[in-house]
Amino acid sequence: MASAIVVGGAVAGLAAARALTLAGAKVTVLERRSAGAPEGAGLLIYPAAARALERLGAIDAFRSVAVPLKGIATFDQSGRLLNSLDAGDFERRYGFPIAGVHRGDLLNALLHELDAELRHGFEVTGLEVGDRVKVLSGFDPLEADALVGADGIRSRVRSALGFGAEPRRSGYVAWRGVARKALPQHSPDTAAIVVGIGRHGGWVPVGAGRVYWFLTGDEGESSGRERALEVLRGWSGPLAGFVAATEPGDVLFNDLIDRDPDVRWGRGPATLAGDAAHAMLPSMAQGANQALEDGSALMAALRQHGLNPSGFRAYEAARHQRTARLVRMSRQIMPVFQWRRASARLLRAALLALPPALSQRQMEWLYRVDS
Ligand SMILES: Cc1cc2nc3c(=O)[nH]c(=O)nc-3n(C[C@H](O)[C@H](O)[C@H](O)COP(=O)(O)OP(=O)(O)OC[C@H]3O[C@@H](n4cnc5c(N)ncnc54)[C@H](O)[C@@H]3O)c2cc1C
Repeated sequence: MASAIVVGGAVAGLAAARALTLAGAKVTVLERRSAGAPEGAGLLIYPAAARALERLGAIDAFRSVAVPLKGIATFDQSGRLLNSLDAGDFERRYGFPIAGVHRGDLLNALLHELDAELRHGFEVTGLEVGDRVKVLSGFDPLEADALVGADGIRSRVRSALGFGAEPRRSGYVAWRGVARKALPQHSPDTAAIVVGIGRHGGWVPVGAGRVYWFLTGDEGESSGRERALEVLRGWSGPLAGFVAATEPGDVLFNDLIDRDPDVRWGRGPATLAGDAAHAMLPSMAQGANQALEDGSALMAALRQHGLNPSGFRAYEAARHQRTARLVRMSRQIMPVFQWRRASARLLRAALLALPPALSQRQMEWLYRVDS
């Protein structure tokens, strides 16, 4: 039986581990975090990624924790409704709804019946790639027939493979958190985006009465729940309430970064997946979706070509165009959500008021699930 190592045990890593086991490999997942470490916030999962979860055998576990959404509404910060997307229509058109899920619940769904060894507290420090791969760490070196680096945007595996393209700061930051109690005026199956002046935010129900929220700003902002609440003073709607209902220590704060797309992200019996391969800004909510799609494409390529360098190159070729397009689009869309000038905001409101069917048609390539 061929052996494979996956570096990184989050969305991309666990999806890749499922793909490799389904392709017949004995898989070891190496994860830097200790078991039980915090699992992040929430995610929107679109139909193509749900289809990937189905192919990877994790759809039932996903369905048991995800919240199928009826709608995604867009407001301005004074509470005026600018656009309302019928998310239920996605299920009719594409076979799966848009769903909200807590990242920790998605990781558990990916772990469900995963036939792989998962080692926590294992930080990979280097890599040697020949006909096989050797993984270096503070422990004895590990060898395997193949390796997938799914170790996030600052991937060690990526640098060890010699692929450049440093992460690029966008100039924006985001606060994120999960409110533990829904508020009275909140509809439990509707997500929302709120476009403000020089920033945007939003919320997504993620089940068990929890609501994931996010808020963006410019680089130089300070972290912490109190600053997020200060920013939201004067905004209509429940966003500030969700922030206030989050434990201060649980509020995440990050620079938003991405990386120029690469044509190749593998060498020999090693490849990359998820943010390590194609980090994108969160403006289209696609990073984790693409990590799941990577897993499904990897499984298909390995089934066709076998667990060998040709299989990995076929997977990279299958994924390059779509992910590169999303990296670029996410970069273009982000500033639109951050527009400040009154004239620009009027234009944005007018664009958002266009019939949803129009924008949906333009995005068919993203939503449509290949069979
Ligand atoms: C504000 C915000 C909102 C977002 N919203 C959405 C959304 O709605 N929908 C969506 O699809 N995406 C969204 N994303 C993007 C999404 O979170 C990421 O694209 C996705 O989580 C990437 O998953 P990953 O597994 O590739 O990387 P990561 O989640 O970064 O996981 C990498 C893993 O590798 C481990 N690791 C790192 N280095 C090592 C090492 N040397 N050795 C061993 N282990 C290592 C880490 O501990 C980690 O567990 C959002 C991102 C942000 C910032």
